[in-house]
Amino acid sequence: MATSTSLVTELASRNKKIAAAHQPIPTFAEMGEMGVGLPHVIVLTCVDPRCIPEYFLNLHPSDGVLVTRNICGHIAPALNDILALDAFLSIKEIMIVHHTDCGATHFTDDIVRETMKKRLPSSSHTEVDNIKTFGAIKDLEQSVRDDIALLKAAPLVRKELADAAVGFVYDLKTGELTPVRL
Ligand SMILES: [Zn+2]
Repeated sequence: MATSTSLVTELASRNKKIAAAHQPIPTFAEMGEMGVGLPHVIVLTCVDPRCIPEYFLNLHPSDGVLVTRNICGHIAPALNDILALDAFLSIKEIMIVHHTDCGATHFTDDIVRETMKKRLPSSSHTEVDNIKTFGAIKDLEQSVRDDIALLKAAPLVRKELADAAVGFVYDLKTGELTPVRL
């Protein structure tokens, strides 16, 4: 199995091939001249390499879709991004997508805490305990509901934006998105 260093080297060399056939992507100024609107939609999903929204939503730069990813696709770690993007761009919709077989269903927050404590001096353990969650979940649909509820309860998020959040579960086997009823 390749080490992470050699994989990074390989990825950088892959980029050379991609760049050789690259078509220039327009700047914001050029997009304005072309009549392409600024992005108004955020897709929030998991970091999992099997969960690629550019693939399962067939995204292109001209779609104006902003993608943010973290473990599971949770609202809490994405909140600063959502607030800043909304301030810049007046976001209209947020799409939250969690996925089947998510790694977040395979670990617990306690396992992460214990692993960290083994690697850190005991003086740091209280700080580790104070981190409320590392994103572990038990139920995919409930997790989507909880994240939407968190968005709606976030005091700095505009109500119209929180109300425009929709949740889905992406099935790795079928490729389909299923809406999550609130
Ligand atoms: Zn995941």
